[in-house]
Amino acid sequence: MEDCIFCKIAAGVIPSNKVFENNTILAFHDIHPLAPTHILVIPKKHYTNLETLDATDQSLLGHLLHVTNLVAKQENIAKDGYRVVINCGSWGGQVVHHLHIHLLGGRKLADTLG
Ligand code: AMP
Ligand code: ZN
Repeated sequence: MEDCIFCKIAAGVIPSNKVFENNTILAFHDIHPLAPTHILVIPKKHYTNLETLDATDQSLLGHLLHVTNLVAKQENIAKDGYRVVINCGSWGGQVVHHLHIHLLGGRKLADTLG
């Protein structure tokens, strides 16, 4: 996707503060953190959001969540607890239209969602 900011980050065209990378997944610090630790975990390949995935993408989804947990451990927020958020579509608050997982932690998070 030519005009996608996260595709550009995945390609290294736009810099990011990376915390994890393998062949298919990249994790980097959110530029506007909402918690002491706020990391985005993305597939390097462009997918618009969860709604555009199908049954063949189940292993990718599992891989993304597994890496999210690895990053939480690496960043020392796993023991106290963390939150994982995926915004999907306009009512879900999705602003960047490249599938991403928010990993939030480092403080006690609010009790409510939405
Ligand atoms: P969402 O509302 O789920 O689409 O979240 C998009 C997130 O991407 C927001 O938390 C932004 O702060 C973050 N973001 C946007 N541009 C960048 C960037 N260049 N580097 C890191 N995070 C970004
Ligand atoms: Zn993209």
